[in-house]
Amino acid sequence: MFQTKVATEFGPQPQLDEDYDVIVVGGGPAGSTAGALLAEYGHRVVILERSAFPRFHVGESLIPETYWSLKRLGLIEKLKQSEFPKKYSVQFVSDGHKESAPFYFDEYNPHECSQTWQVVRGDFDRMLLENAEEKGATVRSDAHVLEVNFDESRAAGVRVKLQSESDQPVVELRAKVVIDATGQTAFLSNRLGVKQADHRLRKGTVWSYFKGALRDPGKDEGATIILQTEGKKSWFWYIPLPDDIVSVGCTAGMGYLFGKDRGTAEDIFAAELARCPAMQRRLSPAKRCAEFFTTKDFSYSSSQGAGDGWVLIGDAYSFIDPVYSTGVFLAFKSGEFAADAVHNAIERRDFSAERLGAWQEQYCTGVELFRKLVYAFYAPDFSFGKFLKQHPQYRSNLVDMLIGDVFKPRVGEIFDEMGEVFPDTDS
Ligand SMILES: Cc1cc2nc3c(=O)[nH]c(=O)nc-3n(C[C@H](O)[C@H](O)[C@H](O)COP(=O)(O)OP(=O)(O)OC[C@H]3O[C@@H](n4cnc5c(N)ncnc54)[C@H](O)[C@@H]3O)c2cc1C
Repeated sequence: MFQTKVATEFGPQPQLDEDYDVIVVGGGPAGSTAGALLAEYGHRVVILERSAFPRFHVGESLIPETYWSLKRLGLIEKLKQSEFPKKYSVQFVSDGHKESAPFYFDEYNPHECSQTWQVVRGDFDRMLLENAEEKGATVRSDAHVLEVNFDESRAAGVRVKLQSESDQPVVELRAKVVIDATGQTAFLSNRLGVKQADHRLRKGTVWSYFKGALRDPGKDEGATIILQTEGKKSWFWYIPLPDDIVSVGCTAGMGYLFGKDRGTAEDIFAAELARCPAMQRRLSPAKRCAEFFTTKDFSYSSSQGAGDGWVLIGDAYSFIDPVYSTGVFLAFKSGEFAADAVHNAIERRDFSAERLGAWQEQYCTGVELFRKLVYAFYAPDFSFGKFLKQHPQYRSNLVDMLIGDVFKPRVGEIFDEMGEVFPDTDS
């Protein structure tokens, strides 16, 4: 089940038409959510994905509020029957030593939505994409989009290379709306020059996979653990996966993590591990079962999220640091919001930026709450524990945000008290 290699063989691919209601570029969680829901509305949708699936992807830990998107997609039963470990809680370990009690989501809300999953992304993303296909979307997973075509200022289609076709591999397709779900490639945001790096979150990550690490027993077996290293220079994630494998990654300021004389990714990982006794203990019986991966500078937003005939969703719109595992949740939510907006646009034959992006103000307000929470995590002198001791009335606001409930009214009131807390730019 678990594999980090990228498949190179493209399977049989469906025929394409020249014209669609909607073209979705990218078949990750955002694209397959938007594609599935628009097909369910009865629109003619094609999802163009450039990688043979299942493709490897980082980002295995879900948060509880993904439940509602998975339910709308009709996937809860499939997840219940899957081998993905059940996640009931998250636990924080400070400065490599002091282990807090796990935070159980169902203590706050005793509903089945409080249990979520740790997923192998190759398999999970394939499940989502197949679901879109079952709902009626056409899916090509050999389709590398080279260009979004514009009729004057309105997006009108794409130029795409079909990697498994030998004659005439480059074709042009037309559509009423183009949805960009290209993940960190952020295809349109880059092309249109609207991508903005978050200079407060210039982080990098080194990660790999281990077999046979220590797991906590019972209900805690599937918990995500976030462990800070001594001196709070970096932090580790520990995410249990099927087959006794754990995903373990270390994140820190880019300048520090990949600085001069730090050696290979393996050297960096080892040096940070030496500063995190609680992670060392967990990994002591384990064997590494994959190579080391690195990524950096992954936090950004887009100053414009929709235009005439186009809309951005998921990481193609914005991404914030992985510490609270919000990426897949936001991919789902933006996929849902965009599907409803595009459906409305098609019904009214109005493909203006205003209609296609009507959801984005509310969405960005929620994303900003996550961003403030991330800033507070990296602020050297800030502690959530101390803050809650002084202001216990905000505990439920914090819990709401940790589970992902950021779109409900007044949840951000915690920041009225906390004020703006900023991270060190390279810590
Ligand atoms: C270090 C790190 C750790 C993370 N950990 C977590 C976590 O624990 N939990 C979590 O929820 N999130 C996590 N995330 C974030 C999460 O992985 C992403 O937010 C999520 O994958 C976004 O989904 P998406 O559909 O927008 O993009 P993606 O999943 O990246 O999908 C985009 C798809 O578009 C395709 N594509 C790109 N360009 C083209 C093109 N030109 N033509 C055709 N197809 C194209 C790609 O092949 C890809 O399949 C993490 C991120 C990082 C960087």
